[in-house]
Amino acid sequence: AKIAGKNCYRFYSKAMDQAVERRMQLEEDLRRAMENDELSVVYQPIFELSSGLLVGAEALLRWEHPDKGSIPPAVFIDVAEQTGQIDGLGRLVLQRACARAARWERSGEGEAPFVSVNVSARQLRLGDLPEIVTAALRESGLPPNRLHLELTETAVLGDEVQASLLLGRLRAMGVKIWLDDFGTGFSGLSHLRRVPVDGVKIDRSFVADVLRDPDDLALTTAIIAMAHSLSITVVAEGVESEGQYAVLRERGCDQAQGYWLGRPMPAAELERRMKA
Ligand code: C2E
Ligand code: CA
Ligand code: CA
Ligand code: CA
Repeated sequence: AKIAGKNCYRFYSKAMDQAVERRMQLEEDLRRAMENDELSVVYQPIFELSSGLLVGAEALLRWEHPDKGSIPPAVFIDVAEQTGQIDGLGRLVLQRACARAARWERSGEGEAPFVSVNVSARQLRLGDLPEIVTAALRESGLPPNRLHLELTETAVLGDEVQASLLLGRLRAMGVKIWLDDFGTGFSGLSHLRRVPVDGVKIDRSFVADVLRDPDDLALTTAIIAMAHSLSITVVAEGVESEGQYAVLRERGCDQAQGYWLGRPMPAAELERRMKA
């Protein structure tokens, strides 16, 4: 038993060592990536359902590792959250996205598309988000109402008092606040009374089943109705078919994004689409 116990211990410690080692390697790689410009921002178009017009774009981080190829944000954002590297990453995305959207603002006639940037829980906890956003807006010259920030329910849930204070300051500047992955958390709409937001993004797990599962259609329809009664905009994400698009439009959803409408793409490609 003693020997087995010892082996067991060694087995677990080895597995743990490997996990820690992988994480440390990723942390180091990420630091180098930030220095060597391996990170880029792509943009996924967002359309208004009533008019079919392109009204905005979500900024999404991409990492092209020189040996390991492209590393999905779901992997490295998590590491960056734990190591604190998300602070630098978050600033980088904000700066790039604002600079890009300011170009759209200058080049187009009519209302320019907004840019929507993801903000992680840690960025909100740090408390200096309004200052960082102010700096990015000032440097780029982007009007505040052309910037949207996407926060998940869980990020806001951590400290509702702090969150509503910070979000209130940002909203007072004119920046729009959206709740991301909406419907996946437990609290759902009860939140919207305490934390002021301008929009909700219906999670793609609902959208995926909206044609197959009557419950998902009912939930989606209820979210739209309740959000509208609170004057909150509703965006559907993960629209992968014309059928989904049609049913969301019919239910009065305001905006949509998804592979069927357009994949995340380099800014130059999106700009070609804007002109078309
Ligand atoms: P998210 O904020 O929910 O972003 C939407 C994700 O859904 C993106 O994945 C997008 O490529 C994907 N998507 C868009 N349309 C469709 C569709 O029709 N079907 C399917 N199956 N997926 C679709 P991506 O780019 O891999 O990002 C994953 C997550 O990583 C994001 O989820 C977000 O939480 C995080 N992330 C990405 N960029 C950033 C960033 O700059 N900052 C922070 N804090 N998080 C980021
Ligand atoms: Ca998002
Ligand atoms: Ca989402
Ligand atoms: Ca379902």
